[in-house]
Amino acid sequence: MDVRFWGTRGSVAKPGPTTLRYGGNTSCVEVRGVDGTLIVLDCGTGAHGLGQALVSAGGPRCDGHLMITHTHWDHIQGFPFFAPLFIPGNTWDIYAPGALGQQLERTLAGQMEYNYFPVTLAQLGASIRFHDLVEGRFAVGAVRITAQYLNHPALALGYRLQSGGNVVAYSVDHEPHAPNPAARRDGEPPGHGEDQRHVEFLADADLVIHDAQYTVEEYPQKTGWGHTPAEWAVDYALAARAKRLALFHHDPLRDDDAVDRLVEACRRRARAAGSALQVFAAAEGQELRLIEHDATVPGPTSPPAPAMSVGPHTILVADDDPTIVRLLTLALEQDGFRVVTANDGKTALHLARVERPALILLDWQMPGADGMEVTRALRGEADPFLRNIPLVLITAQSGAENTAVGFAAGVTDYLTKPFRPAHVRARVQAWLMRRRSEAPRAP
Ligand SMILES: [Zn+2]
Ligand SMILES: [Zn+2]
Repeated sequence: MDVRFWGTRGSVAKPGPTTLRYGGNTSCVEVRGVDGTLIVLDCGTGAHGLGQALVSAGGPRCDGHLMITHTHWDHIQGFPFFAPLFIPGNTWDIYAPGALGQQLERTLAGQMEYNYFPVTLAQLGASIRFHDLVEGRFAVGAVRITAQYLNHPALALGYRLQSGGNVVAYSVDHEPHAPNPAARRDGEPPGHGEDQRHVEFLADADLVIHDAQYTVEEYPQKTGWGHTPAEWAVDYALAARAKRLALFHHDPLRDDDAVDRLVEACRRRARAAGSALQVFAAAEGQELRLIEHDATVPGPTSPPAPAMSVGPHTILVADDDPTIVRLLTLALEQDGFRVVTANDGKTALHLARVERPALILLDWQMPGADGMEVTRALRGEADPFLRNIPLVLITAQSGAENTAVGFAAGVTDYLTKPFRPAHVRARVQAWLMRRRSEAPRAP
């Protein structure tokens, strides 16, 4: 596989003398599979340069696959400036996570409405196919792709690409679920099941391209913004036994010299762990060639799993703090969910049986029965629907021992206070979409 970085910056484009070496354009990475299949990861402002290069390099046709992690500005602002989309005869497949009731095509058309841009989506010359994705595996050409949800205040997918025996994992705009997500002593598992899942997503990659927007010192002021401190990106890569780590999504405030210092700190961290992991900061224009090895025969090309549109879901919110109940209700109703509420454990259990909600958000500490007791009661029900409802515990503690006890009791995940409404909305979408893609299909 060949990889070329066209945009490495996070949040907002930052051209100028302070970002000359690592680049000022926002997220865009070109990947070529062993058969030449063109995959473009994200469509930030870096896509402008890529589009120009493709058109001027090329023959008349330029087809490709554009995989968008999520539709925050820094991942789609290059879309209306990506030249291959304007050329009749080209075919582009565009992929992004499909949230419940919100389609990719509508979101991209939104940023091309008359008030924002002179050309509408419908006027693009190329033929475009939109794919709203959920987690899962599919193939394009000789590249096998695994899509997995990230932790971000918007529903976001990471992409793991496998071709010619090489693996590139693209994981930007992700925040660890627990502090020091994978820094554990030998044999000790990560404290949070979702962080373990993330490590498995990156496992044995030849190249991990990872969100590294902050430093560990900056992180306490940025908790909940949906990004990883660079040092913890190293911990993830070490736990995953990756060969190379490209720090990516550089903060717009970090100039080239500051990026150099961060890289040095990350290399020291990898060396201190006794690892041969190669760490560098992704730089605009940089190219990497991953030499083909152990090439397996690619499987048949299968269509990606589509995100399904669904009717309104009911969500049960149980918390004895009326402020939390109100905050969660307002956030969830914005996405069209029906919310039922309880302020003690006994009522929560009763409502779960009567309302059969699609998801339960449950405070750990409540009068009557606490969150853990409610969890154990539901997991012991005879009715498989109740036994399997995704159940998220709201807690003020993110300590590893408590977390492990909860997972053992059957908790699906945690929501740690304080949280931001955007984060809750994205996580709820991920929990529900994951549940749907795991559920057996109706005959
Ligand atoms: Zn971003
Ligand atoms: Zn984002």
